[in-house]
Amino acid sequence: TPPLTMALAGNPNAGKTTLFNHITGARQHVGNYPGITVDHKEGRLVHRSQPITLTDLPGTYSMTAYSAEELVARDYLVNERPRVVINIVDASNLERNLYLTCQLLELGAPLVIALNMMDVAKDRGIEIHADKLEELLQVPVVPIIARSGKGTEKLLDTALQVANQEHKWQSRHITYSDDIDEAIDEMVSLIEQENFLTDLYPPRYTAIKYLESDEQLLTKGGNNDPASSSLLTAIVDNISNHTLKTLEVYPESIIADHRYGYIRSIVRQGVMSQNHDSDRLYTSD
Ligand code: GDP
Ligand code: MG
Repeated sequence: TPPLTMALAGNPNAGKTTLFNHITGARQHVGNYPGITVDHKEGRLVHRSQPITLTDLPGTYSMTAYSAEELVARDYLVNERPRVVINIVDASNLERNLYLTCQLLELGAPLVIALNMMDVAKDRGIEIHADKLEELLQVPVVPIIARSGKGTEKLLDTALQVANQEHKWQSRHITYSDDIDEAIDEMVSLIEQENFLTDLYPPRYTAIKYLESDEQLLTKGGNNDPASSSLLTAIVDNISNHTLKTLEVYPESIIADHRYGYIRSIVRQGVMSQNHDSDRLYTSD
């Protein structure tokens, strides 16, 4: 059987390298992505007789065109289409880490969440209900401690399961207010009708990235199909004028606000609770 491809994505310091080293051992290769000095690290392993190639993506907080790391991570996912993405999330810093998760879901990648640093969260008296997070995000969540390897067998089992499922890259639907959603719908119709960049991105993803003025997508779109690209840009200009007039902000910041709102609403539906025994350790009265 040919190796099955998995990628590891996460914020800097979420524990990617620790997990990568734990599950690949010494069987890894470090090089650079062509032309830039961003590490390309690839390792091999066999799990339940299945050969696996694991790629450690550069650590990023987001999945846009703001840095070489973000571009490398996104291009890798879009061009290589790994069968599953293991999104490593720092449980002791949940809300911030889930911002990238949102973007991976919008890109449509098949995901498993490795909820890392469970020991750190516990020491801080934070209990995280992985099953609740899984239910609300509708993504498998496996708690792990990468440093000790705890949970990594179950993580690989779950990743294999997801990798073996048929997966269509489809954008997770997050709502961004009536005005923005209306513009997205209009853009999606056009994108679908013209097959605009649909070999690379789900239509909704392209629409959102146009609204966020993502340089890479705008350039690709312009080179690929100038007419459709300028129709999309016209819709963006229109909605931008409107949000600037009514709210004094660009659509981009409305989108970011709603992503954070989506995450907050998930985390506050019983995903986290404070352990009262350790509460007492930190409060003086
Ligand atoms: P990366 O930037 O995502 O590659 O993160 P690293 O793997 O370099 O980890 C960042 C730091 O967190 C290192 O000091 C690790 O030893 C530590 N670390 C990683 N996983 C765990 C864990 O599960 N528990 C604890 N306590 N520390 C961890
Ligand atoms: Mg690292």
